[in-house]
Amino acid sequence: MQITKHNLHTAQLTNNCPTCFANQGLEFTFSQEETETKYYTKAGSRIFESLYCHSCNNTIYPVNWTDDIERVYQYNKKLVNPKNTTIRLKTSAYLLLLLFVVLVATGLLLAMNY
Ligand SMILES: [Zn+2]
Repeated sequence: MQITKHNLHTAQLTNNCPTCFANQGLEFTFSQEETETKYYTKAGSRIFESLYCHSCNNTIYPVNWTDDIERVYQYNKKLVNPKNTTIRLKTSAYLLLLLFVVLVATGLLLAMNY
């Protein structure tokens, strides 16, 4: 089983960083985890959000967000388009299902002949 994180949306902000006050370098990242096994892939329902400042190389936590940052956050949150969280079967899973159906059908045919 393998878990990968996909970037769904990133946004550069022109707001001042609450830590270093630079008005360039703030970046929102919205991401989502996806579990991948041999037979299926499934996206997690949780959306990970982070605000990172490339000027002071800090993650800015929500407690330090200003009202302006909060507004930009709310705006960008609406632009995020998460992946569907239903299980998506891979070809190997379909082949396994097909094999199962063939086996059951063969079993039934044999049983009817006796
Ligand atoms: Zn900063």
